[in-house]
Amino acid sequence: MEAFHLLNFGCRASQADGAGLKARLLGAGFQETQRVEESQIAVLNTCTVTASADAEVRQIIRRIHRSNPACKILVTGCYAQRAPKEIAALAGVAWVVGNSHKHTIAEVLSRRHGRGITPLPGNKAGRDFPLIQIQSGPPAAKAESAELLVGEVTSEFHFSPALPGERSRPTLKVQDGCDARCAFCVIPSVRGPSRSLAPECVVEEIRRFDEAGYPEVVLSGINLGRYGLDLSPRMTFLDLVERILQETSLRRLRISSIEPMDVGARLISFAAGEPRIARHFHIPLQSGSDRILRRMNRRYWTAQYAERLLAIRERMPDAALGADVMVGFQGETEADHTESLRFIELLPFTYLHIFPYSMRPETRAAAMESPVPKNLAQRRSQEVRELMAEKREAFLAAQVGRSLSVVTLDDFEGDARLALSSNFLKVALPHSACAPRQLFDVRVARSSGGTLYGYSESRSGEDQMGELAMECRGC
Ligand code: SF4
Repeated sequence: MEAFHLLNFGCRASQADGAGLKARLLGAGFQETQRVEESQIAVLNTCTVTASADAEVRQIIRRIHRSNPACKILVTGCYAQRAPKEIAALAGVAWVVGNSHKHTIAEVLSRRHGRGITPLPGNKAGRDFPLIQIQSGPPAAKAESAELLVGEVTSEFHFSPALPGERSRPTLKVQDGCDARCAFCVIPSVRGPSRSLAPECVVEEIRRFDEAGYPEVVLSGINLGRYGLDLSPRMTFLDLVERILQETSLRRLRISSIEPMDVGARLISFAAGEPRIARHFHIPLQSGSDRILRRMNRRYWTAQYAERLLAIRERMPDAALGADVMVGFQGETEADHTESLRFIELLPFTYLHIFPYSMRPETRAAAMESPVPKNLAQRRSQEVRELMAEKREAFLAAQVGRSLSVVTLDDFEGDARLALSSNFLKVALPHSACAPRQLFDVRVARSSGGTLYGYSESRSGEDQMGELAMECRGC
């Protein structure tokens, strides 16, 4: 049986796609290898959000082909959907499968051997995987020696459940695609229209993770706040959250990222009163300048954004508040940037994902005038970063002495098991023998180098506090 090596790139929704793809390949009888040098097939599940994301994929394809020339490379995901011929031209690439045909990958590879696909255990109605007749879809082009399977992304939701046992905090993608047209964003063209996973499937998957012992599941989507608007009967994202909490005993539900206009008073109020929802909101801002938000075709004003963020802070003083910030967007002046900096300074962010604007072909922004030179965009990124570092430090320092609810991760820092708090902070637990995927309270003893150090409160320990304080002397 052929062995595959899977590499995932991009956002949490893409990671969730990758976990489902892996389950499909294993279910079809392929074996996974940890080393690409030992694989017959390398599967790259790609992202195309920036030019550097594309460049990274091309670089890895070249590296795989150099280290294992016999390995056949299959490229799928957003980059494959956007620029299939560009990828197909690279040596070693045998298949380019767009998001439109991603759900057929296991079938496509299985058919090479003239065999069908083994259904996944427990594959019930609602989680069916009909084979797409590629010939009857949009014509599959051929370029170089690679086979291209790329068509239009439809309004169907193709869902592949992941196998439990992967990560300590699994991600469940409940929504795909986007109908917004932010000027810089290529996602709507590579992910198609907004569509939702049926709520009964969501509940079933959450139960599956809960029963497998996962305390936390992350709900993700491309534009999560649009969840349910395509379903019949229509429902809202909040309806889904309420239903999950009513119909499952999952202990912690985390919302991955949600657009500002979808964080309404009802959602804030519900989350504030529900301890099973992680104290964590990630709300993309992009710019703190109204002029730039308009150019970006974002559908809110800074005042509305601030109002919502402050409402969360008021109801949940301990919550993590994060955002994506894009600097150097087409036409961004020094005055726009200063305005954005001042806005960010005023708001209680606890972390930011800061990235310079990257031109994406066939977006509205690509045709805009007054691009910002690269060195200027880098300098502006650095200024936002420095501003955020101070806020971050203050937030971490404020946690010392507090009790945080955490889920233990698979990762370590040195010998210390790492855990993630409800409010999205990494806590190292020295002297702890606890296993991953445990949910409990820890007391934070100190903050150092961007990491918190703590101990389990259930193991009650003045001694542990003493040990941690002693370790602290050298730092
Ligand atoms: S909301 Fe805007 S930025 Fe987000 S995926 Fe949709 S188009 Fe892209």
